[in-house]
Amino acid sequence: MQKSHELTMTVLMTPDMANFTGYVHGGTILKLLDQVAYACASRYAASYVVTASVDQVTFRQRIHVGELVTFLAAVNHTGRSSMEVGIKVLAEDIRSQAQRHVNSCYFTMVAINEEGKPVAVDALDPATTEEKRRHAQAVLRKKMRLELSKRLT
Ligand code: GDP
Repeated sequence: MQKSHELTMTVLMTPDMANFTGYVHGGTILKLLDQVAYACASRYAASYVVTASVDQVTFRQRIHVGELVTFLAAVNHTGRSSMEVGIKVLAEDIRSQAQRHVNSCYFTMVAINEEGKPVAVDALDPATTEEKRRHAQAVLRKKMRLELSKRLT
């Protein structure tokens, strides 16, 4: 049974997702990433959420039409009403079953109530060594975001 702070989704890359060069359009992946981040955060918080920011979306490799793309998502860190959701994206050739790590990114999602106001979420309790490492790295990313916005204003 998956923990409530984790979520996995696999999607077949169909021809309607292709760009003019025949590979999967980056925007298609961005939309799916946002949906996965939304699903992961809203399930953890048991409330509607909004996307506050997206960090470090790097398209490492092209994705082919006909591949299976798996999104491994987890809440890495919680603030009062914010959550960092990390997503690792794997592309898989159906016949060879060879998997490639094509992308990783980090979304900040905020839980909201019916009036659209932020609401508190349960504090994440990172249990494993890996979860603790991701939690510490999320804290660092949050600090860097704040530092950057201070320097740019
Ligand atoms: P990391 O953040 O340094 O661990 O970089 P990765 O590229 O390995 O993973 C990116 C993010 O995807 C992680 O921070 C997690 O939030 C999420 N993630 C990675 N692996 C898994 C996994 O096996 N299952 C789930 N549910 N999420 C994962």
